[in-house]
Amino acid sequence: MTTTKMTSHDYMEREEKYGAHNYHPLPVVLESGEGVFVYDVEGKRYFDFLSAYSAVNQGHCHPVIINALTEQAKKLTLTSRAFFNSVLGEYEEYVTKYFGYDKVLPMNSGAEADETAIKLTRKWAYKVKGIPANQAKIIVCAENFHGRTTTIVSFSTDPQSYADFGPFTPGFEVIPYNDIPALEKALQDPNVAGFLVEPIQGEAGVFVPDEGYLKKAFDLCRKHNVLFIADEVQTGIARTGKLLACDHEGVRPDILILGKALSGGVLPISAVLADDYIMLTIKPGEHGSTFGGNPLAGKVAIAALEVIKNEKLAENAERLGKILRDGLRSIHSPMIELVRGKGLLNAIVIKPTNGKEAWDVCLAMRDNGLLAKPTHQHIIRLAPPLVINEEQIHEAIEIIKKSLAQFA
Ligand code: PLP
Repeated sequence: MTTTKMTSHDYMEREEKYGAHNYHPLPVVLESGEGVFVYDVEGKRYFDFLSAYSAVNQGHCHPVIINALTEQAKKLTLTSRAFFNSVLGEYEEYVTKYFGYDKVLPMNSGAEADETAIKLTRKWAYKVKGIPANQAKIIVCAENFHGRTTTIVSFSTDPQSYADFGPFTPGFEVIPYNDIPALEKALQDPNVAGFLVEPIQGEAGVFVPDEGYLKKAFDLCRKHNVLFIADEVQTGIARTGKLLACDHEGVRPDILILGKALSGGVLPISAVLADDYIMLTIKPGEHGSTFGGNPLAGKVAIAALEVIKNEKLAENAERLGKILRDGLRSIHSPMIELVRGKGLLNAIVIKPTNGKEAWDVCLAMRDNGLLAKPTHQHIIRLAPPLVINEEQIHEAIEIIKKSLAQFA
Protein backbone atom coordinates (compact mmCIF):
# COMPACT_ATOMS: atom_id res chain seq x y z
CA MET A 1 0.00 0.00 0.00
CA THR A 2 1.41 3.39 -0.92
CA THR A 3 0.73 6.59 0.99
CA THR A 4 1.25 9.90 -0.73
CA LYS A 5 2.32 12.78 1.47
CA MET A 6 0.11 15.83 1.24
CA THR A 7 1.76 19.00 -0.07
CA SER A 8 1.04 22.57 1.05
CA HIS A 9 -1.12 22.91 -2.03
CA ASP A 10 -3.27 19.93 -0.96
CA TYR A 11 -3.84 21.40 2.50
CA MET A 12 -4.83 24.77 1.10
CA GLU A 13 -7.17 23.22 -1.44
CA ARG A 14 -8.93 21.22 1.28
CA GLU A 15 -9.47 24.31 3.43
CA GLU A 16 -10.79 26.15 0.42
CA LYS A 17 -13.24 23.35 -0.33
CA TYR A 18 -14.63 22.66 3.13
CA GLY A 19 -14.08 25.87 5.11
CA ALA A 20 -16.00 29.14 4.99
CA HIS A 21 -14.15 31.76 2.99
CA ASN A 22 -14.00 34.34 5.78
CA TYR A 23 -10.19 34.69 5.69
CA HIS A 24 -7.59 35.23 2.99
CA PRO A 25 -4.46 33.59 4.44
CA LEU A 26 -0.96 34.02 3.14
CA PRO A 27 -0.19 30.80 1.25
CA VAL A 28 1.86 28.84 3.78
CA VAL A 29 0.73 25.77 5.74
CA LEU A 30 2.16 25.57 9.23
CA GLU A 31 2.62 22.38 11.14
CA SER A 32 4.71 23.12 14.22
CA GLY A 33 6.24 25.93 16.19
CA GLU A 34 8.85 26.60 18.83
CA GLY A 35 9.71 29.98 20.32
CA VAL A 36 9.95 32.58 17.55
CA PHE A 37 9.84 30.01 14.75
CA VAL A 38 7.12 28.13 12.91
CA TYR A 39 7.64 25.29 10.42
CA ASP A 40 5.54 24.44 7.38
CA VAL A 41 4.44 20.97 6.29
CA GLU A 42 7.50 20.72 4.05
CA GLY A 43 9.77 21.44 7.02
CA LYS A 44 10.78 24.99 6.06
CA ARG A 45 11.46 27.32 8.99
CA TYR A 46 10.06 30.85 9.32
CA PHE A 47 10.31 33.71 11.79
CA ASP A 48 6.76 34.31 12.98
CA PHE A 49 6.34 38.09 12.78
CA LEU A 50 2.61 38.05 13.44
CA SER A 51 2.45 35.92 16.61
CA ALA A 52 -1.22 35.15 15.94
CA TYR A 53 -2.04 38.86 16.21
CA SER A 54 -0.01 39.11 19.45
CA ALA A 55 -1.48 36.05 21.15
CA VAL A 56 1.82 34.20 21.12
CA ASN A 57 3.88 36.81 22.99
CA GLN A 58 5.53 34.06 25.06
CA GLY A 59 6.62 32.17 21.91
CA HIS A 60 5.19 29.03 20.36
CA CYS A 61 4.61 26.04 22.64
CA HIS A 62 6.34 27.59 25.64
CA PRO A 63 7.28 24.57 27.82
CA VAL A 64 6.07 26.17 31.08
CA ILE A 65 2.65 26.93 29.60
CA ILE A 66 2.35 23.57 27.84
CA ASN A 67 3.27 21.84 31.07
CA ALA A 68 0.54 23.72 32.95
CA LEU A 69 -1.89 22.80 30.18
CA THR A 70 -1.11 19.09 30.12
CA GLU A 71 -0.96 18.68 33.90
CA GLN A 72 -4.35 20.31 34.41
CA ALA A 73 -5.82 18.57 31.34
CA LYS A 74 -5.21 15.23 33.08
CA LYS A 75 -7.14 16.37 36.16
CA LEU A 76 -10.12 18.53 35.24
CA THR A 77 -10.85 20.74 32.25
CA LEU A 78 -14.37 22.12 32.57
CA THR A 79 -17.00 22.34 35.26
CA SER A 80 -19.03 25.29 33.98
CA ARG A 81 -19.81 27.93 36.54
CA ALA A 82 -22.70 25.90 37.88
CA PHE A 83 -20.17 24.64 40.45
CA PHE A 84 -17.03 25.97 42.07
CA ASN A 85 -13.71 24.53 40.91
CA SER A 86 -10.39 24.32 42.72
CA VAL A 87 -8.47 26.52 40.24
CA LEU A 88 -10.71 29.49 39.48
CA GLY A 89 -10.17 31.29 42.80
CA GLU A 90 -6.41 30.80 42.54
CA TYR A 91 -6.45 32.32 39.06
CA GLU A 92 -8.75 35.17 40.08
CA GLU A 93 -6.51 36.08 42.99
CA TYR A 94 -3.41 35.84 40.81
CA VAL A 95 -4.69 37.90 37.89
CA THR A 96 -6.31 40.65 40.00
CA LYS A 97 -3.13 41.12 42.05
CA TYR A 98 -1.01 40.99 38.88
CA PHE A 99 -2.92 43.85 37.24
CA GLY A 100 -4.10 45.62 40.41
CA TYR A 101 -7.90 45.37 40.31
CA ASP A 102 -10.53 44.19 42.80
CA LYS A 103 -12.20 41.68 40.51
CA VAL A 104 -11.94 39.77 37.24
CA LEU A 105 -14.66 38.43 34.97
CA PRO A 106 -13.26 35.55 32.89
CA MET A 107 -14.33 35.01 29.28
CA ASN A 108 -12.80 33.33 26.21
CA SER A 109 -12.34 35.43 23.09
CA GLY A 110 -11.35 39.07 22.88
CA ALA A 111 -14.68 40.02 21.33
CA GLU A 112 -16.53 38.43 24.25
CA ALA A 113 -14.43 40.40 26.69
CA ASP A 114 -15.27 43.61 24.81
CA GLU A 115 -18.96 42.68 24.88
CA THR A 116 -18.63 42.07 28.61
CA ALA A 117 -17.05 45.50 29.12
CA ILE A 118 -19.89 47.11 27.16
CA LYS A 119 -22.54 45.36 29.25
CA LEU A 120 -20.70 46.21 32.45
CA THR A 121 -20.47 49.87 31.45
CA ARG A 122 -24.20 49.97 30.71
CA LYS A 123 -25.05 48.32 34.05
CA TRP A 124 -22.85 50.80 35.88
CA ALA A 125 -24.51 53.64 33.95
CA TYR A 126 -27.98 52.67 35.19
CA LYS A 127 -27.17 51.35 38.65
CA VAL A 128 -24.51 53.85 39.73
CA LYS A 129 -24.33 56.88 37.48
CA GLY A 130 -28.11 57.14 37.21
CA ILE A 131 -28.51 57.45 33.43
CA PRO A 132 -32.20 57.01 32.40
CA ALA A 133 -33.12 53.50 31.20
CA ASN A 134 -31.78 52.54 27.77
CA GLN A 135 -30.13 55.93 27.22
CA ALA A 136 -26.51 55.02 28.04
CA LYS A 137 -24.02 55.92 25.35
CA ILE A 138 -20.49 54.68 24.81
CA ILE A 139 -17.99 56.75 22.86
CA VAL A 140 -15.73 54.80 20.50
CA CYS A 141 -13.07 55.76 17.96
CA ALA A 142 -13.02 55.70 14.18
CA GLU A 143 -10.92 52.87 12.70
CA ASN A 144 -11.49 50.83 15.86
CA PHE A 145 -11.20 47.08 15.98
CA HIS A 146 -12.80 45.28 18.91
CA GLY A 147 -13.90 42.02 17.30
CA ARG A 148 -16.63 40.60 15.12
CA THR A 149 -19.87 40.30 17.09
CA THR A 150 -23.01 42.05 15.88
CA THR A 151 -22.81 44.75 18.56
CA ILE A 152 -19.11 45.36 18.00
CA VAL A 153 -19.42 45.67 14.22
CA SER A 154 -22.31 48.06 14.86
CA PHE A 155 -19.77 50.75 15.71
CA SER A 156 -17.03 49.72 13.29
CA THR A 157 -16.09 52.27 10.63
CA ASP A 158 -14.67 49.61 8.31
CA PRO A 159 -17.24 48.56 5.68
CA GLN A 160 -15.59 45.11 5.49
CA SER A 161 -16.62 44.62 9.11
CA TYR A 162 -20.15 46.02 9.06
CA ALA A 163 -21.54 46.00 5.51
CA ASP A 164 -24.63 43.80 5.13
CA PHE A 165 -24.60 42.81 8.79
CA GLY A 166 -27.23 45.28 10.00
CA PRO A 167 -29.51 46.17 11.69
CA PHE A 168 -27.03 47.50 14.21
CA THR A 169 -26.97 47.96 17.97
CA PRO A 170 -27.57 51.59 18.97
CA GLY A 171 -25.89 53.45 21.84
CA PHE A 172 -22.46 54.24 20.38
CA GLU A 173 -20.96 57.49 19.15
CA VAL A 174 -17.92 57.40 16.92
CA ILE A 175 -15.33 60.16 17.20
CA PRO A 176 -11.92 60.44 15.49
CA TYR A 177 -9.05 58.65 17.24
CA ASN A 178 -6.30 60.74 18.79
CA ASP A 179 -8.59 63.76 18.93
CA ILE A 180 -9.00 65.29 22.40
CA PRO A 181 -11.29 68.19 21.35
CA ALA A 182 -13.67 65.66 19.73
CA LEU A 183 -13.73 63.64 22.94
CA GLU A 184 -14.33 66.73 25.04
CA LYS A 185 -17.28 67.69 22.84
CA ALA A 186 -18.80 64.19 22.94
CA LEU A 187 -18.47 64.10 26.72
CA GLN A 188 -20.87 67.05 27.06
CA ASP A 189 -23.77 64.61 26.74
CA PRO A 190 -24.72 63.59 30.31
CA ASN A 191 -25.81 60.15 29.06
CA VAL A 192 -22.27 59.14 28.15
CA ALA A 193 -21.26 56.16 30.30
CA GLY A 194 -17.93 55.10 28.85
CA PHE A 195 -15.11 55.75 26.42
CA LEU A 196 -13.85 52.55 24.77
CA VAL A 197 -10.39 52.90 23.25
CA GLU A 198 -7.40 50.91 22.01
CA PRO A 199 -4.20 52.47 23.44
CA ILE A 200 -2.62 51.78 20.04
CA GLN A 201 -4.90 50.85 17.15
CA GLY A 202 -3.46 47.51 16.09
CA GLU A 203 -5.73 46.33 13.32
CA ALA A 204 -5.99 49.85 11.90
CA GLY A 205 -2.27 49.52 11.12
CA VAL A 206 -0.45 50.05 14.41
CA PHE A 207 -1.58 53.63 14.74
CA VAL A 208 0.19 55.13 17.75
CA PRO A 209 -1.61 58.19 19.16
CA ASP A 210 0.22 61.36 20.20
CA GLU A 211 2.07 61.21 23.48
CA GLY A 212 -0.26 62.35 26.24
CA TYR A 213 -3.47 61.39 24.40
CA LEU A 214 -4.41 58.56 26.75
CA LYS A 215 -3.71 60.60 29.87
CA LYS A 216 -5.70 63.58 28.63
CA ALA A 217 -8.56 61.29 27.58
CA PHE A 218 -8.49 59.58 30.96
CA ASP A 219 -8.56 62.91 32.83
CA LEU A 220 -11.50 64.11 30.75
CA CYS A 221 -13.41 60.90 31.47
CA ARG A 222 -12.75 61.41 35.19
CA LYS A 223 -14.04 64.97 35.01
CA HIS A 224 -17.29 63.85 33.38
CA ASN A 225 -17.80 60.72 35.49
CA VAL A 226 -17.33 58.49 32.45
CA LEU A 227 -15.58 55.11 32.54
CA PHE A 228 -12.29 54.86 30.67
CA ILE A 229 -12.34 51.42 29.06
CA ALA A 230 -9.05 50.20 27.58
CA ASP A 231 -9.10 47.40 25.04
CA GLU A 232 -5.63 45.94 25.59
CA VAL A 233 -6.46 42.65 23.85
CA GLN A 234 -3.66 43.28 21.33
CA THR A 235 -1.49 45.87 23.08
CA GLY A 236 -1.49 44.35 26.57
CA ILE A 237 0.71 41.76 28.26
CA ALA A 238 4.15 43.19 27.44
CA ARG A 239 3.67 43.67 23.68
CA THR A 240 4.44 47.40 23.61
CA GLY A 241 7.32 47.37 26.08
CA LYS A 242 5.26 47.73 29.28
CA LEU A 243 2.87 45.27 30.87
CA LEU A 244 0.03 47.41 29.49
CA ALA A 245 0.24 50.04 26.78
CA CYS A 246 -1.63 52.39 29.16
CA ASP A 247 1.35 52.11 31.55
CA HIS A 248 3.38 54.28 29.14
CA GLU A 249 1.24 57.22 30.30
CA GLY A 250 0.56 56.13 33.86
CA VAL A 251 -3.13 55.56 33.10
CA ARG A 252 -5.05 52.94 35.07
CA PRO A 253 -8.20 52.14 33.08
CA ASP A 254 -11.50 51.84 34.96
CA ILE A 255 -12.21 48.73 32.91
CA LEU A 256 -9.34 46.71 31.45
CA ILE A 257 -9.97 44.24 28.62
CA LEU A 258 -7.42 41.46 28.01
CA GLY A 259 -7.27 38.45 25.70
CA LYS A 260 -4.86 36.83 23.27
CA ALA A 261 -1.51 36.56 25.16
CA LEU A 262 -3.33 35.86 28.42
CA SER A 263 -2.94 32.23 27.35
CA GLY A 264 0.30 32.55 25.37
CA GLY A 265 -1.69 31.38 22.37
CA VAL A 266 -2.63 28.06 23.91
CA LEU A 267 -6.37 28.52 24.53
CA PRO A 268 -8.88 31.30 23.96
CA ILE A 269 -8.74 33.09 27.30
CA SER A 270 -9.93 36.65 27.87
CA ALA A 271 -10.70 38.72 30.92
CA VAL A 272 -12.30 41.94 32.06
CA LEU A 273 -10.85 43.58 35.15
CA ALA A 274 -12.47 46.32 37.23
CA ASP A 275 -12.99 47.43 40.81
CA ASP A 276 -15.97 46.40 42.91
CA TYR A 277 -18.07 49.52 42.34
CA ILE A 278 -18.22 48.59 38.68
CA MET A 279 -17.93 44.80 38.68
CA LEU A 280 -20.48 44.09 41.37
CA THR A 281 -23.25 45.83 39.40
CA ILE A 282 -23.58 42.55 37.48
CA LYS A 283 -25.45 39.97 39.58
CA PRO A 284 -25.69 36.16 39.35
CA GLY A 285 -27.35 35.01 36.16
CA GLU A 286 -26.92 38.32 34.34
CA HIS A 287 -23.82 37.44 32.31
CA GLY A 288 -21.53 34.48 31.73
CA SER A 289 -20.14 31.80 29.46
CA THR A 290 -19.90 28.00 29.68
CA PHE A 291 -16.14 27.94 29.21
CA GLY A 292 -15.18 31.22 30.91
CA GLY A 293 -13.19 30.57 34.08
CA ASN A 294 -12.59 26.89 33.40
CA PRO A 295 -9.78 25.27 35.41
CA LEU A 296 -7.68 24.50 32.34
CA ALA A 297 -7.74 28.16 31.33
CA GLY A 298 -6.96 29.23 34.90
CA LYS A 299 -3.76 27.19 35.09
CA VAL A 300 -2.71 28.18 31.56
CA ALA A 301 -3.24 31.90 32.23
CA ILE A 302 -1.26 31.81 35.48
CA ALA A 303 1.63 30.09 33.67
CA ALA A 304 1.44 32.51 30.73
CA LEU A 305 1.60 35.54 33.04
CA GLU A 306 4.44 34.00 35.07
CA VAL A 307 6.47 33.62 31.87
CA ILE A 308 5.93 37.31 31.04
CA LYS A 309 7.30 38.33 34.42
CA ASN A 310 10.06 35.74 34.85
CA GLU A 311 11.50 36.23 31.38
CA LYS A 312 11.19 40.02 31.56
CA LEU A 313 9.38 40.10 28.24
CA ALA A 314 8.19 43.70 28.58
CA GLU A 315 11.78 44.87 28.98
CA ASN A 316 12.84 42.72 26.02
CA ALA A 317 10.04 44.16 23.87
CA GLU A 318 11.05 47.70 24.79
CA ARG A 319 14.75 47.19 24.00
CA LEU A 320 14.41 45.07 20.86
CA GLY A 321 11.56 47.19 19.52
CA LYS A 322 13.93 50.15 19.33
CA ILE A 323 16.54 48.04 17.53
CA LEU A 324 13.92 46.76 15.10
CA ARG A 325 12.60 50.24 14.27
CA ASP A 326 16.13 51.64 13.88
CA GLY A 327 17.03 48.73 11.62
CA LEU A 328 13.93 49.12 9.47
CA ARG A 329 14.42 52.88 9.21
CA SER A 330 17.96 52.34 7.94
CA ILE A 331 16.72 50.28 4.99
CA HIS A 332 16.80 52.31 1.80
CA SER A 333 13.78 51.22 -0.19
CA PRO A 334 11.33 53.32 -2.18
CA MET A 335 8.61 51.00 -0.86
CA ILE A 336 9.03 52.09 2.76
CA GLU A 337 6.86 55.11 3.39
CA LEU A 338 6.97 54.98 7.16
CA VAL A 339 7.98 52.80 10.09
CA ARG A 340 6.05 53.18 13.33
CA GLY A 341 5.26 51.34 16.52
CA LYS A 342 5.99 50.82 20.17
CA GLY A 343 7.87 47.96 21.79
CA LEU A 344 7.47 44.96 19.50
CA LEU A 345 4.20 46.13 17.95
CA ASN A 346 5.37 47.77 14.75
CA ALA A 347 4.39 48.40 11.17
CA ILE A 348 5.86 49.39 7.85
CA VAL A 349 3.60 51.52 5.69
CA ILE A 350 4.28 50.40 2.14
CA LYS A 351 4.25 52.68 -0.87
CA PRO A 352 3.10 50.55 -3.83
CA THR A 353 5.90 50.59 -6.40
CA ASN A 354 5.88 49.25 -9.98
CA GLY A 355 2.54 47.57 -9.31
CA LYS A 356 3.89 45.74 -6.27
CA GLU A 357 2.06 46.04 -2.95
CA ALA A 358 2.35 44.98 0.68
CA TRP A 359 0.98 41.53 -0.21
CA ASP A 360 3.85 41.00 -2.69
CA VAL A 361 6.37 42.06 -0.04
CA CYS A 362 4.84 39.54 2.39
CA LEU A 363 5.14 36.79 -0.22
CA ALA A 364 8.80 37.68 -0.77
CA MET A 365 9.43 37.70 2.98
CA ARG A 366 7.75 34.30 3.23
CA ASP A 367 10.07 32.93 0.55
CA ASN A 368 12.99 34.35 2.52
CA GLY A 369 11.81 32.82 5.80
CA LEU A 370 9.72 35.43 7.63
CA LEU A 371 5.93 35.54 8.00
CA ALA A 372 3.87 38.71 8.28
CA LYS A 373 0.58 39.81 6.78
CA PRO A 374 -0.71 43.12 5.46
CA THR A 375 -3.42 44.91 7.36
CA HIS A 376 -5.51 47.45 5.42
CA GLN A 377 -3.70 46.72 2.16
CA HIS A 378 -0.64 48.94 2.52
CA ILE A 379 0.50 48.27 6.06
CA ILE A 380 2.64 45.34 7.20
CA ARG A 381 2.45 44.67 10.92
CA LEU A 382 5.64 43.28 12.48
CA ALA A 383 5.00 41.66 15.85
CA PRO A 384 7.32 38.76 16.66
CA PRO A 385 7.03 36.69 19.84
CA LEU A 386 8.58 38.68 22.68
CA VAL A 387 11.07 35.88 23.43
CA ILE A 388 13.02 36.91 20.34
CA ASN A 389 16.68 37.84 20.95
CA GLU A 390 18.89 40.54 19.50
CA GLU A 391 20.69 38.27 17.04
CA GLN A 392 17.35 37.05 15.70
CA ILE A 393 16.07 40.62 15.35
CA HIS A 394 19.10 41.48 13.20
CA GLU A 395 18.57 38.35 11.13
CA ALA A 396 14.92 39.31 10.62
CA ILE A 397 15.87 42.86 9.57
CA GLU A 398 18.20 41.36 6.94
CA ILE A 399 15.36 39.19 5.59
CA ILE A 400 13.05 42.20 5.34
CA LYS A 401 15.81 44.22 3.63
CA LYS A 402 16.55 41.45 1.16
CA SER A 403 12.84 41.01 0.38
CA LEU A 404 12.31 44.73 -0.28
CA ALA A 405 15.43 44.81 -2.46
CA GLN A 406 13.79 42.31 -4.81
CA PHE A 407 11.41 45.08 -5.86
CA ALA A 408 14.07 47.75 -6.47
N1 PLP B 1 -9.81 43.83 20.53
C1 PLP B 1 -8.68 44.08 19.87
C2 PLP B 1 -7.93 45.35 20.15
C3 PLP B 1 -8.17 43.17 18.94
O1 PLP B 1 -7.04 43.44 18.28
C4 PLP B 1 -8.90 41.98 18.71
C5 PLP B 1 -8.42 41.00 17.72
O2 PLP B 1 -7.57 41.24 16.92
C6 PLP B 1 -10.10 41.76 19.41
C7 PLP B 1 -10.51 42.71 20.33
C8 PLP B 1 -10.91 40.54 19.19
O3 PLP B 1 -10.32 39.40 19.73
P1 PLP B 1 -10.82 37.95 19.30
O4 PLP B 1 -10.41 37.74 17.88
O5 PLP B 1 -10.13 37.02 20.25
O6 PLP B 1 -12.30 37.93 19.46
